[in-house]
Amino acid sequence: MEFASFADRAAAIEDVPSDTETVELVADLFVGAGEDLDTVARFIQGRVFPAHSATKLDVGPALCHAALAKAAEPNVTPADIEDRLAAVGEVGTVAEGLTLGGQRGLGAFGGGSDGGLTVAGVDAALRGLAAADGPGSTDTKLDTLFGLFNRADPTEARFLARLVVGTMRIGVGKGTVRDATAEAFGVPVDAVERAIQVSNDVGLVTETARQAGEAGLEDVRLAVGRPIEAMLAQAGTAVDALEEWDRVAVETKFDGARIQVHHDGERTRLFSRNLEDVTDPLPEVVRSVEESLDVPAILDGEVVAVDEAGSPRPFQDVLRRLRRKHDVAAAREAVPVEFYAFDCLHAAGEDLLDAPLTERHARLSELLGDGDGEGAEGGDGEGAEGGVSELRIVDSAEEIASLEEAALSAGHEGLMVKNPESAYTPGDRGRNWLKRKPDAETLDLVVTGAEWGEGRRANYFGTFLLSVRDGEGFRTIGKVATGITDEELERLHERLRPYVRSESGTELELEPAVVFEVGYEEIQRSPTYSSGYALRFPRFVGVRSDKAPDDADSLERVDRLAE
Ligand code: AMP
Repeated sequence: MEFASFADRAAAIEDVPSDTETVELVADLFVGAGEDLDTVARFIQGRVFPAHSATKLDVGPALCHAALAKAAEPNVTPADIEDRLAAVGEVGTVAEGLTLGGQRGLGAFGGGSDGGLTVAGVDAALRGLAAADGPGSTDTKLDTLFGLFNRADPTEARFLARLVVGTMRIGVGKGTVRDATAEAFGVPVDAVERAIQVSNDVGLVTETARQAGEAGLEDVRLAVGRPIEAMLAQAGTAVDALEEWDRVAVETKFDGARIQVHHDGERTRLFSRNLEDVTDPLPEVVRSVEESLDVPAILDGEVVAVDEAGSPRPFQDVLRRLRRKHDVAAAREAVPVEFYAFDCLHAAGEDLLDAPLTERHARLSELLGDGDGEGAEGGDGEGAEGGVSELRIVDSAEEIASLEEAALSAGHEGLMVKNPESAYTPGDRGRNWLKRKPDAETLDLVVTGAEWGEGRRANYFGTFLLSVRDGEGFRTIGKVATGITDEELERLHERLRPYVRSESGTELELEPAVVFEVGYEEIQRSPTYSSGYALRFPRFVGVRSDKAPDDADSLERVDRLAE
């Protein structure tokens, strides 16, 4: 498929206001995509790689702006591109407004036979770009992007730029792709949904639907080594749980980082909640899994940092371990971790997603040979402590309260209450898992803006504008400036700087990228912010590095809390 046809379709999709029309246009695009279907299905969502892939394009705004400036009319500099971006707020529109291609003949990438860009060519060029590594790789990346932009017409440039920075902004989310696949290839929506959940690869699913229909989709299975989205929890009370289900499964809520374990029978790989490969930073977890498991399995659990006495440390400590690339042995010494497995998605060739929680948990205990959460059996002391979480089935508020007290006094965060009959639904923030936090509530909010500090803090961002998730967008709910030490402020500044979209006076607009955990005393109705609410006495608790903006708390949750 010519990249120009893809871009024209994307423009048409962006222009239609209604969801039904969007689905129809995307379905049409899928039917016409031919051999490029899997790539088109990813591109239309702004992805170059499948969601399960650890490979990232890793093109920052600066590189993209430099490539655009190079391909643009003479005298356009990267700083001009940034000025235009500040004025229009979105890189696609900036790219579209440039006169690209002045240096025709210099770009050798992404080609079709007649010299135009093709979807396959752009895909190959961007994959090459992601693979570039080592000294000189920035120049190679710049050349590749320049080569693409230099040959793009205005509409192509608009969508190419958005693809490169990873945001399509045409209102095509997961649900649209699912519905469009169903419509395009005459298969049930549920079958598409399930196949996307178990493969985490829309390209594979659209292609399977096209070639093998419903039967093909039903044959899509979990694969060891291909991480899927984690099942998520909502906030809830014990009373909710007891009202909704006859019996309640209660488990400790570990304050650590979510880990998906993939064991192929011999080797183990670990993935974080954002599906990054974190095998290397956690050798002791790998070791204890490899010692305990002798069949292929996919497990879900939490890795927790502990002190010398084995008591949990704050989850920020475990994040330090996850990020550590060098000197892992020293980090391991400084921050020991424990791994608690709480779910089993696949065991010995059998997918267990549809089995009830109690059955999955029983399989987990069988596999790891440890039902008490008091440390993996055997081993040589080189593996991580931890084991299988204890799952207690109860039916009274008193039992839940006493389990909660026990969890808290052991230094854990609190309790999870789960529906014992429920299936494992990847990526779903349903009501089958409820998290019960003992403290005053906190919210996980996306930073969408900042203000420069004053006085001693004048060189840093000092106040942060916070937003809640609302569908695919974000709505502001307040500002936070308290609870942040000078050191943290400096780190936050560095961390947020790459996401500045525009600046006016002392205020900056930021790309939604970083999630803060924020405590508060009360939620009030307020016309000041676009969510319709404001937080009273907001207090910075920490950065949720393990969460993407899509995992932030929703307006719906705030609605419920405000009630
Ligand atoms: P939150 O991060 O506050 O949204 O709470 C949900 C998270 O709690 C999950 O994503 C897990 O990482 C974590 N968690 C800790 N213990 C458990 C458990 N026993 N079952 C499920 N999730 C847990």
